Amino acid sequence: MRRRLAVVTIGCKANFTDSAEIAALAARAGLRVVSETAGADILIINSCTVTHRADRDSRALARRLRRQNPEAVIVMTGCYARTTPGDRACLPEVNHWFGNDAMKELPRLFGSLSGESAISGAAPSLVAVNRLLGRTRVFLKIQDGCDSACAYCIVPKARGPGRSVPLEKVMESIRRAEQDGAREIVLTGIHAGRYGADRGETDGLAVLLEKALTATSVCRFRLGSVEPLEITPRLVERIAVEKRICTHIHVPMQSGSDAVLQRMRRPYTFTAYREKLLSITSAVPEARLGADVIVGFPGESERDFTETLDKIRELPLSYLHVFPYSTRTGTESASWADDVGAAEKKRRASLLLAADKEMRGDYAKAQVGKTLSVIAESENAKGGNLEIKGLSENYLEVVFSSRDVSVGDIAPVRVLSARNGKLEGSIVSDSGKD
Ligand code: SF4
Repeated sequence: MRRRLAVVTIGCKANFTDSAEIAALAARAGLRVVSETAGADILIINSCTVTHRADRDSRALARRLRRQNPEAVIVMTGCYARTTPGDRACLPEVNHWFGNDAMKELPRLFGSLSGESAISGAAPSLVAVNRLLGRTRVFLKIQDGCDSACAYCIVPKARGPGRSVPLEKVMESIRRAEQDGAREIVLTGIHAGRYGADRGETDGLAVLLEKALTATSVCRFRLGSVEPLEITPRLVERIAVEKRICTHIHVPMQSGSDAVLQRMRRPYTFTAYREKLLSITSAVPEARLGADVIVGFPGESERDFTETLDKIRELPLSYLHVFPYSTRTGTESASWADDVGAAEKKRRASLLLAADKEMRGDYAKAQVGKTLSVIAESENAKGGNLEIKGLSENYLEVVFSSRDVSVGDIAPVRVLSARNGKLEGSIVSDSGKD
């Protein structure tokens, strides 16, 4: 019987893409990829190290999975595995460690675990491998690594310098994914806004989107995070004009205080950040924009924080990801005093989270009466009806009933209500009626 392998992912969209690559390698080596961890023979934890909490989650997951599957082989991969070799001795639950820099060793391990001496199978398609991992949408890596040096960030060390996947390779993957039935492709990268910059290109992300749209006819495309200064007029114009580019962009901010941004080595001021967001919403008024904010960065005074809290209200944001600062060994700020206490970080984070809740609620309510383009992600029989959960182009979960829509389809859904940020709607027929 083929041994079963499950991949559990922590962290960013780039990690989700790496997990798909890991699953493809495993399938190719003759292992059976499953989405459930219970009963799996081999468990891959694709870990994250962006904060202390991510480290802790990676360790806790290893312990939980060991309790669940005492006999399984547990493999830790990803950023935590790469940056914290000192933790290995205190995590006996893990059998094998492979940092991002050692992933090329995985096929050999998979070969030995599956009993095959060499990789023999054909590589499964991107669509197939994402389905094996329980995903409807296809995550496609277009770029990895980062050349910036934000004072708090360990990612350049964990992922190495920025490098773009060759355009032809990306296009081939996109064409094939559409042929195989993909209806949404998420273009991921650590610094995707600099796609092509390592080859001396400008506006590489906009160019890639233009080519992707020409090469396909039904797939829609979603961008992950784009740094503010990489939002160019050409990129905004594409999003405004092309209905197949999702109107959701995550634009990291980190602080509303120019003094803090400068110490963080972020290459913009708050005013420049706001202008970038406004350049998007003036062209795409319905766009859903979100931001990362770090609280309690070394030296962040009460005044700096209040400035951030107040200025956020000036921005056309509809949600925040809030991160209490934590020191990452190997970063520039690790040598600075972590001088905002834990309780104060918690207080600041809670104030931002309250603002986040309000923004999410307001944006969700504003969707009532609109028709959104929703990709069906899961279905569930409920009282004689088929309840479908899907994801809209502006990244909102929408629930609706339909007998004609299958998982993976994109359907127009009119939003009827928004409660606690959750949307319910009904499908719009070709005649335009609900
Ligand atoms: S841009 Fe800054 S925060 Fe983002 S990955 Fe690079 S160094 Fe880290």
